[in-house]
Amino acid sequence: MSRTVYLNGEYLPEEEAKVSIFDRGFLMADGVYEVTSVLDGKLIDFDGHAKRLERSLNELDMASPIGMEDLLAVHRELVRLNDITEGMIYLQITRGAPDDRDFVFPDPDKVPPTIVLFTQNKPGLADNPAAKKGIKVISIADERWGRRDIKTVQLLYPSMGKMMAKAAGADDAWLVEDGKVTEGTSNNAYIVKDGKIITRNLSNDILHGITRAAVLRFAREARMEVEERPFTIAEAQAADEAFITSASTFVMPVVEIDGTPLGDGTPGPVATRLREIYLEESRKTAS
Ligand code: PMP
Repeated sequence: MSRTVYLNGEYLPEEEAKVSIFDRGFLMADGVYEVTSVLDGKLIDFDGHAKRLERSLNELDMASPIGMEDLLAVHRELVRLNDITEGMIYLQITRGAPDDRDFVFPDPDKVPPTIVLFTQNKPGLADNPAAKKGIKVISIADERWGRRDIKTVQLLYPSMGKMMAKAAGADDAWLVEDGKVTEGTSNNAYIVKDGKIITRNLSNDILHGITRAAVLRFAREARMEVEERPFTIAEAQAADEAFITSASTFVMPVVEIDGTPLGDGTPGPVATRLREIYLEESRKTAS
């Protein structure tokens, strides 16, 4: 069945939603995005995603085509129109479509941004069987640009990383720069040693995960020890457990890194507990 999507102020069947070939998102990856998950038909941490979107737009000198209140209403309307109980809402804003290709940014008064939202229906999202088994990751060099704190649609290298993982018989890849893990291809990376949760500190090197912020807050509230600093693959392989976080995987245990099993090779108690807490708490405040 065709989805109803949102394009520049209109709700349309997906087949009718068309964007110009001159759109800078298409030609130059000049755009930002957000993914908000839906559980029980409600949005998880919409405010966090809306704030990061504003920051991404700001960092790129891009105007927002919509106020955050209206954006919330559009998210809710798409959930309703597409009858989503569990899934995701994808949102993308690009610098619009000038009438020709040019590296120079178009005048924002003449060229409005393009805004697109669509739903992804994922029944069983919170019950992902991978969470019971854990996932395997490989390490690869981090060859992305230097402003990973901005959530841009330049996803070619993360996409290549997922393909490298698949070719190696793994589920995902962790990116390594100057000997330290930055993050996963589409998630933040954590290890647990002697009960302490270790994850890279925020900087331009990583995306400031909305799930990361919530999980670290819940961990501290539960009196778990948290240390924000970079770690190596060797340290991760010697850790008791590891996990990743993102809006669509929540907290996902990692059980193997570059072929080395962690602990007994099954999801650890800290990752398992944090997944439960995250799902429970974020359902409570979902909007
Ligand atoms: N890092 C990267 C590179 C990502 O692409 C994502 C998810 N888009 C994350 C981290 C996790 O961010 P969030 O928890 O906000 O989904």
